[in-house]
Amino acid sequence: MSHIVYADNAATTPVSDLVLNSMLPYHSNFYGNPSSLYKIGREAKKAVEQSREQVAGCLGALSNEIFFTSGGSEANNWAIRGIGYNLAKQGKKHIIASAFEHHSVLNILDVLKKDGFEITYLNVYKEGIIRPEDLKNAIRPDTALVTIMYANNEIGTIQPIQEIGNICKEYSIIFHTDAVQAVGNIPIDVKSLNIDLLSLSAHKLHGPKGIGALYIKKGTKILNLIEGGAQERGKRAGTENTAGIIGLSIALKDACDHIKERTKKLSLMRDRLIDGALKIEYSSLNGDRKNRLPGNVSMCFNGIEGESLLLKLDAMGICASSGSACTSGSLDPSHVLLAIGLPHEVAHGSLRLTLSDQNTEEDVSYILECLPLIVKELRDISPLWEKIINKKVKSF
Ligand SMILES: *Cc1c(COP(=O)(O)O)cnc(C)c1O
Repeated sequence: MSHIVYADNAATTPVSDLVLNSMLPYHSNFYGNPSSLYKIGREAKKAVEQSREQVAGCLGALSNEIFFTSGGSEANNWAIRGIGYNLAKQGKKHIIASAFEHHSVLNILDVLKKDGFEITYLNVYKEGIIRPEDLKNAIRPDTALVTIMYANNEIGTIQPIQEIGNICKEYSIIFHTDAVQAVGNIPIDVKSLNIDLLSLSAHKLHGPKGIGALYIKKGTKILNLIEGGAQERGKRAGTENTAGIIGLSIALKDACDHIKERTKKLSLMRDRLIDGALKIEYSSLNGDRKNRLPGNVSMCFNGIEGESLLLKLDAMGICASSGSACTSGSLDPSHVLLAIGLPHEVAHGSLRLTLSDQNTEEDVSYILECLPLIVKELRDISPLWEKIINKKVKSF
């Protein structure tokens, strides 16, 4: 089968033609170092600064509040390390996060924990959404930072960012959000949402891999993560990834310019996919049905292994994921599915299908044709399934 149905856009997206073409001249003609004084350097510098303005414009930020990074992971590490260690000097060593953050947040929090920080992880409940009153209750005099993702990468649920921002402002606590999945899918205005720091990444919105940005509100004190040259106004060293920066800004602008019609198209495909997949017996949707990203479908099918499901889908030309790309390959069920309270054996049978505007209704039809057959095939050979239908094992 030559045609591929790509339904793993939360893991990464193909670079669009628009983005690719905008990047090419910065590999070939304007390859100069943006810090150099001659023309091809100056041209590169000009393009970098125009891109910064464009990225800022899409977020309602000022251009000098945008700092380019190597991606979402670096932006998250920088925000949490840089704010955490700075405020630790004032004795503030408490951080609040949600229980199902991306590993680039969870693992840096673990590092801080070993350094004497205390971390409170907010419950996300069955719906996959934190409750603002829990956040209020968790705040202490020594709370340095609240870091809560905008939208979850596995189950697509959207957090009450406005309320979180308002609470943090009321208590004068710095608020960082990992918005890698949200940017380009949800209109964002950092000022009205009271966001102090925001991480984004290009490759989740048809931009290139290895480039992202951290929005840092003017006046926010943060330590550097990477030391070296004076790039990014002395805050993030390293020769600018000129082509990547152009690609990021073009991808982001394209996403923001078309957000309404793409949301409409994606939600329709998503809902058809969910409704169709829910017709399979002993299946369930993970996380809140309404408050979720327009392209996210996350399901569990009782009695089967997500990994086998993925292999069978792959054999039929469908690219999907069982959890986040970062954890597949390990046999532990995803921390996200456990955080919303799914039992281990149910969480093992998970499937994530994530759509982008490049998907079509035909893709959805094809997935809905293949999925029930594959699930049945796997259940027919599953000892766990036999126990479930004989009611020896409790299902959900
Ligand atoms: C992909 C992703 C990241 C990591 O971004 P990279 O650019 O791949 O480092 C961080 N957070 C979330 C929610 C993501 O989906």
